[in-house]
Amino acid sequence: MRTALSRRNFFNQSFGLAAGGVLLRNFGFKGRSRGRGLSTPLIVTSHPNETGRRAMEVGWEILSAGGRAIDAVEQATNVIEVDPEDMSVGYGGLPNEDGVVQLDASIMDGRTYNAGAVASLENIKTPSSVARLVMDRTDHVMLVGPGALEFARSFGFEEEDLTTEKSRQRWLDWRENRGDDDWGPPDHLRGLPETEAGMPRPSVHEHGTVNVLAVDSYGDVAGITSTSGLSWKIPGRIGDSPIIGAGLYVDNEVGAAGATGRGEDVIKSCASYYIVLRMRDGRSPQEACEDALEMIREKYARVNPEFMPGEKFVAINRAGEIGAAWSYSGGRPTMSIRSADGPDTFTGTNFRTGED
Ligand code: ASP
Repeated sequence: MRTALSRRNFFNQSFGLAAGGVLLRNFGFKGRSRGRGLSTPLIVTSHPNETGRRAMEVGWEILSAGGRAIDAVEQATNVIEVDPEDMSVGYGGLPNEDGVVQLDASIMDGRTYNAGAVASLENIKTPSSVARLVMDRTDHVMLVGPGALEFARSFGFEEEDLTTEKSRQRWLDWRENRGDDDWGPPDHLRGLPETEAGMPRPSVHEHGTVNVLAVDSYGDVAGITSTSGLSWKIPGRIGDSPIIGAGLYVDNEVGAAGATGRGEDVIKSCASYYIVLRMRDGRSPQEACEDALEMIREKYARVNPEFMPGEKFVAINRAGEIGAAWSYSGGRPTMSIRSADGPDTFTGTNFRTGED
């Protein structure tokens, strides 16, 4: 329920003017570095914290012993999914509007050109492993809701309440002060005269998703994206994370890309697929992540020149180059990485502010 719906017209430009592409706001970006190259095998995650580092060690143990990228990304992601302190993924993730944690995850194996995904999955701590079983044991790519849960139960996954004291408290706080939700048009249409949407709202959603990407010693590429999705989402809402081509894409000849941020933007732009296509055309992972942000910015700017979407992309190519870029209002994206050179971090660029 949104409060204070004054119908003040926020922007000066009319929808018609903007739609004509007349005014495209100039954001500060000046980046476009080549990113960074490392030796393969290699595993990376969008999570730069302690759990992310631990996850990289688990993945590295598999890769350094000659294991497969697909196993490394799954085992590494599980470390992050079961961490109760991580409120964006798996156990302890932030709940939906009704206080229920619903998880989305996808997995893709470049070697076999196969993929699996689950969406709106409740009560299972490790959705990426359920997605792996969808990939390995069925001829489908995606299972959702009760069907996904039943499928997981049939393989012996235990059902557990995924809320923790901490995540429930956050939801209770949101419910008590509830001034923002997903009912009504998306942010980029708020305030434009034609939408009758009233004032733009401040975004109080919590973002967070983990991407884990790897290249193994055979040169095969794999990736996972796993998340509890947008906090306080409408029950049943599915984000980009479980959608192949949006939240994740892997091409064994090229590399892999994964997304975090407002999933609706990523779905509409097929962003991970776009990044991989850019890399296939010779762009570095860093350049390709920035290209995707620019592509999305441009599309929205034609509708609303003031709007800047908030996304984060990470990518690797099969040669071991890595890249990351986001369009949040400050800071720069940092990744945890692990290769034969040891544990390391990589900091990408801020597309909005130009920090690189
Ligand atoms: N992309 C996720 C989603 O929209 C959320 C996030 O990464 O913050 O579900």
